Amino acid sequence: MSSLPQSVSANPAATPGHYDVAIVGGGVVGSALACALRDSGLQVVLLDAQSREAALSRQQVYAVTLLTGRILEGIGVWDRILPRINTFRQIRLSDGDRPADVRFLPQDLNLDRLGYVAEHTPLLQGLREFLDKSDTVCCIESAQVEEIDYGRDEATVTYHHQGQTRQLQAQLVVAADGGRSPVREAAGISTRGWKYWQSCVTFKVKPEKSHEDIAYEKFQASGPFAILPLPGNRCNVVWTAPHGEAQALMALDEVAFRERLQERFGSEMGRVELASSRYLFPVQLMQSDRYVKPRLALIGDAAHRCHPVGGQGMNLGIRDVAALAEVLQSAQQRGQDIGALMVLKRYERWRKLENLTILGFTDVLDRLFSNDWWPLVLLRQVGLWGLRRLPPVKGIALRLMTGLLGRQPQLARD
Ligand SMILES: Cc1cc2nc3c(=O)[nH]c(=O)nc-3n(C[C@H](O)[C@H](O)[C@H](O)COP(=O)(O)OP(=O)(O)OC[C@H]3O[C@@H](n4cnc5c(N)ncnc54)[C@H](O)[C@@H]3O)c2cc1C
Repeated sequence: MSSLPQSVSANPAATPGHYDVAIVGGGVVGSALACALRDSGLQVVLLDAQSREAALSRQQVYAVTLLTGRILEGIGVWDRILPRINTFRQIRLSDGDRPADVRFLPQDLNLDRLGYVAEHTPLLQGLREFLDKSDTVCCIESAQVEEIDYGRDEATVTYHHQGQTRQLQAQLVVAADGGRSPVREAAGISTRGWKYWQSCVTFKVKPEKSHEDIAYEKFQASGPFAILPLPGNRCNVVWTAPHGEAQALMALDEVAFRERLQERFGSEMGRVELASSRYLFPVQLMQSDRYVKPRLALIGDAAHRCHPVGGQGMNLGIRDVAALAEVLQSAQQRGQDIGALMVLKRYERWRKLENLTILGFTDVLDRLFSNDWWPLVLLRQVGLWGLRRLPPVKGIALRLMTGLLGRQPQLARD
C-alpha cells in the first residue's frame, strides 16, 4: 500500500491524509456537496472513479428546479452555471390527444421564471471549476474507492489511483456514488422499491420553429413524453414507453424514428430534426431504509431514485446536499463530532420523508396517466380541470414541482 494521495488538486488536510469529510462520487450531487462545504472550515476530499474528461462527457440533461438554482446561488457557484444553461418560463401539461392543456406561468407564483434546463457538461464543469479554486477541497479523479473500514473515531477509505492502492482517513464518509452505490451495499444498508415496466429513450432535437422556452409534459397511455428547451433552440426529449416499445424505438432507423417522433412531438414547433444519438435508460424507484450510519451518510441517487417524470431526481440530491451541509456546519460550530449518529440523524429526519413524498408523487403521476382505464381517465380530467380553474390547487402543484414546497434550507434563503 503506498502512502498518501498525489491528488489532482492541492492536498488541504491539516494532517496529511486525514480529512473531516470524504465524499465518494463526483457526479453533480457529490460535487455540489464539496462546493457547499468549500468555505465551511471542514477539510474535504472528493473521490471520483472517472477521469474529469469522462465525467464531463455524459450526455444527460436535467430539468433544474427554482430551489436548486437558489441553493447553487447560495453556494456561490450559480453565476458560473446560469449563463451556460436555459431558463424556461412556461410548462404545458397535456393528457393524450385531448385538446385542453394546463399552462403554468411565472405569474402563478409571482415570479419571472419557472425553472431551468441544464446539460450535464456545463453543470458539472461549473461545479468542478469552483472546486479547482479551493484550498480546502482536494479532488482526486480516476480514484476508485474499493473498501471502507468504519472505526470508532474515523473511517479508513481504501482506493485505487494511478495503478496504486492508497488510503486516507475521514471523520465522515458521504456516499454520492449513484443508484447502485457500492458504498451503500458494502455498508449493508438495504433498499426498497421497484423497477418500472417502462424505459426512457432520451435524445436531443432541433425544431424548425422557436421552442419559446416552453417545457412540455405530454402524458400518453404508454408513458410521459417530455420536451425540455435547451440553449441554441434545441430540445431534449425523454420518451417513456413500456420496455418492448422503447427497445423498438431504439432499433428504428433514423428516417422511421423521425416519423414516429414527429407524430408524438406534434406540430407546435414545425419539423424536428434529430440532433444527437438516442440513449436508453431503465426506470426505477428506490428508497434506502437508512440514510445514515455512524460515520456514513448517503446522498443523491445513492439514497433514493425516482421516475424521471417531472424531472426531480438530481434536484432531490441537491436538496440533500443543502440539508447535510447545514447539519454538518451547525454540528461543527457546536464542537460536535460530525460523524456521530446523533448528528447525522438530523439530516436523515429532514430528508427521508421529503424525498419519499416526491418519490410517491412521481409514482402516482406516472401510474395515473400511463393508462387508458376510463375511471382513471375521468379522475385525471377532474385533476386537470382543478389545475386549470382553481388557482390554489395550481399554486400548490407548481410549488411542489419547483421545489418551493417543504423546508427551505439556509443556503436557499441566504
Ligand atoms: C432518463 C432520465 C432523465 C432524468 N431527468 C432528470 C431531470 O430532468 N432532472 C433531475 O433532477 N433528474 C433527472 N434524472 C435523475 C438524475 O439523472 C439523477 O438523479 C442524478 O444523475 C443523480 O446524480 P448523483 O450524483 O447522485 O449520481 P451519479 O450521477 O450516478 O454519480 C455517481 C458518481 O459516483 C462515481 N462513483 C461510483 N462508484 C464509485 C467508486 N467506487 N469510487 C469513486 N467514485 C465512484 C461515478 O463515477 C459517478 O461520477 C433523470 C434520470 C433519468 C434516468
